[in-house]
Order: sequence, then structure tokens, then C-alpha cells
Amino acid sequence: MQDLPRKQPGFRKIVVVGGGTAGWMTAALLVRLTEGRLGQIHLIESEDIGTIGVGEATIPPIQDFNRLLGIDETTFLRETKATFKLGIEFRNWHQKGDSYIHPFGVIGAQIGRAGFHHYYTRAALSGDTTAFEAYSLASVAARQGRFAPPPRHDSGVHSTLGYAYHFDAGLFAQFLRRYAEARGVIRHEGRITKVNQRAEDGFITGLETERGETLDGDLFLDCSGMHALLLQKTLETGFEDWSHWLPANRAWAVPCSNVSAPLPYTRATAHSAGWQWRIPLQHRTGNGHVFSADFMSEDEAQRILLDNLDAPPLADPRLIRFRTGRARQFWHKNVVAIGLSGGFLEPLESTSIHLIHSGLIKFMDLFPDPDFNPLLAQQYNQAVGMDYDTIRDFLIAHYKLTKRDDSEFWRYCREMSIPASLQYKLDQFRESGRVIMSRGDLFQIPSWLAVLFGQGVMPKRYDPLADLIEPQDLSDILRQMQGTITEYANTMPPQARYLEQLGLTL
Ligand code: FAD
Repeated sequence: MQDLPRKQPGFRKIVVVGGGTAGWMTAALLVRLTEGRLGQIHLIESEDIGTIGVGEATIPPIQDFNRLLGIDETTFLRETKATFKLGIEFRNWHQKGDSYIHPFGVIGAQIGRAGFHHYYTRAALSGDTTAFEAYSLASVAARQGRFAPPPRHDSGVHSTLGYAYHFDAGLFAQFLRRYAEARGVIRHEGRITKVNQRAEDGFITGLETERGETLDGDLFLDCSGMHALLLQKTLETGFEDWSHWLPANRAWAVPCSNVSAPLPYTRATAHSAGWQWRIPLQHRTGNGHVFSADFMSEDEAQRILLDNLDAPPLADPRLIRFRTGRARQFWHKNVVAIGLSGGFLEPLESTSIHLIHSGLIKFMDLFPDPDFNPLLAQQYNQAVGMDYDTIRDFLIAHYKLTKRDDSEFWRYCREMSIPASLQYKLDQFRESGRVIMSRGDLFQIPSWLAVLFGQGVMPKRYDPLADLIEPQDLSDILRQMQGTITEYANTMPPQARYLEQLGLTL
């Protein structure tokens, strides 16, 4: 047998900059997937600077992240005080007083050759007023506060349920820190005050802290949050600003006690210049008001948040300022930005933690040799850029499709121009009832439909194949489908009881 080609040795040192959710997710996944054998993994963070301390709602792929790390679900729930999340309830988005759910999992079932929503549209255009969410087990269960995980390897109605979690972001980072350190990740404490670069090509060679320590490295994962210390501040790769499409630029965040059993969904209630989140955990409820300071003062936004809590706040509200948009490059030279250092999209659809996870998976798929072939970075930048761009469109749709005209903010959102990619999607849906997916779309057709129907968009037409069924047969099938879903939801326990069955005390 011929000798295998001799490869250059791996990295001597891989340095993760930052110990927030992104930093510890990165360290944990890197050490798990490389077993520490492609380079010793170091993480540096600064307790003085701290972390952003929010980010508690997730989407279903978080289960894959936990599975990759080999984390048992009950342990995860216990350690992070997590609850289950079946979707998001949007209140007052289309118009004041309305409510719809964007659920996880499947909506409807196969009736004929056309997609389920074409049959739904046909029925709706003939006068059926049933809400789209009535065909989603996750929505029906969420409205009743119920949860039980879908059995594996089964194809009944229960298998249509998708779920994610709400968790305490601080506890999640601590949990991952224990995981990573137990597997050999070395943590350093200190505020980085100087970044050293190689004279000939600008590659980063090391970091100096205010205590005078130096941490050298060959590959740097920039998880420094909105400080964007390496990629944007040092390598100056540039930022694409999306504030004109997503005008919110501040959030007040505050926890309060639980006044009742935690509900298995996030609530996003629109106010007059933004929206308020409500995220129930085992031990408390997380709340925040995302708003645009161009349309409302910080004081008024704080008052609105405090006036709309379930219970008195457990701490002083914290103000977080942000700018919506993304890095022009996520990987440049020997630096890869993961987390908020790569961009910010408001938490309306809980996508930031997912972007950390998906960025890491894409990076692992393109893991470089120490010569850093720039084609790998190019491929990475394209793929991650697409993730951001498609999520951006989904978020903008929530604002653009409002009917509200009770404030300057909502009038702005109704009138604003939108990206051509989103305009095309909306036009297609309105005209033909078809949802055209873009390459890289994280949110699939059921998610788009939940929001489009939820925001009152009814297409003019539907797939003609949906006409191949007799009207009476169609209404019988739809009625039966709703009945099956409701019946099954009624057999599920309240989420609190399910958590208690797992031995978790609320
Ligand atoms: P950070 O938590 O800010 O961590 C940055 C780290 O870098 C810290 O450890 C800091 O000490 C370190 N650091 C920075 N500068 C230096 C320096 N000079 N020297 C040494 N260390 C340094 N995401 C979701 O998925 N779901 C949600 O529900 C959600 N809600 C959100 C609500 C709001 C209002 C905001 C603003 C964000 C929300 N997010 C949400 C996003 C989520 O919070 C972040 O994606 C996640 O916390 C990751 O943050 P991070 O680790 O990138 O940054």
C-alpha cells in the first residue's frame, strides 16, 4: 500500500474569544467534534465586560445541537431551567386584538397532489373561516398549555409535533462551560486590550490582556458579541446595515415571577413602536420590549414593558442597544465570527442561537488546513450570508404585512420598501397561492404560511389540482382533520405535569 500523503500538522492553538452563549457553544462543539486533536482549544472572556445575558428562546434544530454534544434532554432541562416551546403566539401584529401562532412541525396533512394549504385556501375562498392554526397539533396543544414529546419512529398525528426550548441563557452558558472544560478546553480570564497581527498579511497572531498576559493562536473564533473585536474592529471587514427594513434598535429586558404554570410557547405582543416578548421558564418569566428609539423614547418603552408584566419585576430593567444587519464577511484570514459579532437580527423568530449552531456546522464542514485556503472562506461567507438574508426577509414580512395604522411606526412599516427577494415571494403567494422557497431558507413553507395567513394574506388563487375533489368531500376531510388534532391534543398532559413527571420541580 502506498503511503498516505503527509499533511501539514493541525493548528497549535485555536482561540475562542468570548464566553457568552456563542463562545461556549463554539468551545463545546469544537472540542466534541475535533476531540481537541486538531489544536488545543482556549477560550478567553472578561467577567468585567460580561455577556449580553439575553437569548432564551430557540427553534427546533437546538435539539440537534444537544444531540451532537450527547446531552440528555432531562439533564439539559434541569440544568438550564428550560421549558418546552411549541411555537410563537403573535398578538396585535395584523391588527390590534388579533392573535395567531407560528407553530413548529407539520401543518395539515396530504389530501391530494396539491399542497395542503391549497385545499385550505380553496375552502377559505368558499367561506370557511377556520384559522390555519387549527390544522397544527403544536398550535392546538400550545393554546391549551399542553405538551408531550412526539414518540420516535411513529407516523400518527403526534409525529407532526415539532418543539424547541426556552432556557436560562446564563445557565446554558455555564452548563456548556462545564462540558467544555471537562473535555480539555482551557479558559482564560481577562479583558483583551491589544490584538497582534502578522506584518506581511494581517493574520492575527495573538491577544494581549490588560493584565499583561499574551495568548497566541493560529485560528481565532470571534465570539466577542456586539464588540466584534477581531473581525470588524481589527480586520475591518465591514457591516451591512438593515435598520431601514427592521427599524427596532433597542430592547428593555426584565424578568418577573411566574404567576401560573409556564405555557409551552413564546408570546410576541406588538406595541406601538415594537413588540414585547414573554418567555416562560421553570423558575421565572423572561420579558423584553424591542422597540425603535426613532419612534418612541426609551422611558416610554420602559413604562410600556413594566405596565405589561404578569407580575412585579425581579430586577431593574436593562437597556440593550443594537444595530440590525450583518457582517459583509464572516470568515476573513484566520478569523471566523460566530454569534453577535457576525450580525444582529432581532429575536422575533428566535434565530440568533440557531445561527451560532448553523455557523459552527458550516465551519466544521469547511474546517481549514493551517494555510487557510481563501476558497473555503468564500464558500462559508456565501452560505452564512444566505442564512442571514433569508431570515431577514422572514422577519420583515411580519412588519410589512401589518394592517395597523395607529402609530407612525406601523405606518412606516406598511409603507417601507422591502428587499426584492421578499417582494417576489409575497407577489407569488398573493397571485398563485404558492410559496417560493429561496436557496438556504431556514424557515420552510409551513412557517411562511403560518405568518402569511396569520397576517391576513389570502391568495387570489390556489393550485388547480386542489379542485379535483368534491366540495363536500373536502369539507368532510378538513373537519375530520381538525377533530383528530383536537382529540389528540386533549390527551396530552399540561406542560407543568409533564415537567414534573421528569422529576423537575417548578
Ligand atoms: P455575548 O453574550 O455578548 O458574549 C460576548 C463575550 O465576549 C463575553 O464573554 C464578553 O466578556 C467577551 N468579550 C467581548 N469583548 C471582550 C474583550 N475585549 N476582552 C475579553 N472578552 C471580551 N437569540 C435567540 O436565539 N433567542 C432569543 O430569544 C434571543 N433574544 C434576544 C433578545 C435581545 C434583546 C438580544 C439583544 C439578543 C437576543 N438573542 C436571542 C441573541 C442572543 O442573545 C445571542 O445570540 C447570544 O446570547 C450570543 O451572544 P454572544 O455570545 O455572541 O455575545
